[in-house]
Amino acid sequence: MTEKLYLQNSYIKETRSKLTASTENILEFDRTIFYPTGGGQPCDTGTIRANGKLFNVVEVTKQGESVLHRIDGELNTTNIEVMQEIDWNRRYSHMRYHTAIHIIDAVVHHSSGKYGMITGSQIYQDRARVDFDFQDFSRELAERIIEDSNKVVMEKHPILIREMTSEEALSIPDLARTEPGRELIKKLGVVRVIEIKDIDAQADGGTHVNNTAEVGKIHLSGIESKGKRNKRMSIVLTGQ
Ligand SMILES: [Zn+2]
Repeated sequence: MTEKLYLQNSYIKETRSKLTASTENILEFDRTIFYPTGGGQPCDTGTIRANGKLFNVVEVTKQGESVLHRIDGELNTTNIEVMQEIDWNRRYSHMRYHTAIHIIDAVVHHSSGKYGMITGSQIYQDRARVDFDFQDFSRELAERIIEDSNKVVMEKHPILIREMTSEEALSIPDLARTEPGRELIKKLGVVRVIEIKDIDAQADGGTHVNNTAEVGKIHLSGIESKGKRNKRMSIVLTGQ
């Protein structure tokens, strides 16, 4: 079991931790600031300083309640203190794109049924894409969604992380938008909820910025039809 510091505070760039297990190039710590690949967000990369040596963290994955770090070397020891540092530019970019997707999702969702529903997303360091189930879709609609999303960015809404019981989480209207989502929340003891104040709340395990203003300007870089109702929007962010 790894304590996941990135869930509590996404802005921690370096931290001390204890190496609890190592198998050649796979390391496990008592706690970590490295986000593991999941939920459409790529893992963090960065470095581990241990025994006077610096290793690159090249891949981070989640296995049950543990976070596993693959390094570009071998460290066959345990119970030592190490220094973790993440590639902050990469992570901060992921945080901005991840938050942008929440805003777009909220804009689409709160126009209730008129538009459609988000079905998936993928974040990269320099772009993101969002897939929707749309009844009617056009470039004009996509542009309107992005325009409304940019309004939310400029309104500077704080983004809060809250932990609650599954009962509390399910009592928030629209928190889980799909039946599988509701079922998943029911199974959790503690639900982490990301709230964009006055805009949206979602159960979520990713990393986000503290205020919508940090997202910067959202640009529509493309639209694509992946099927009759399955439509894709691609975005890029600039400035702040
Ligand atoms: Zn999220």
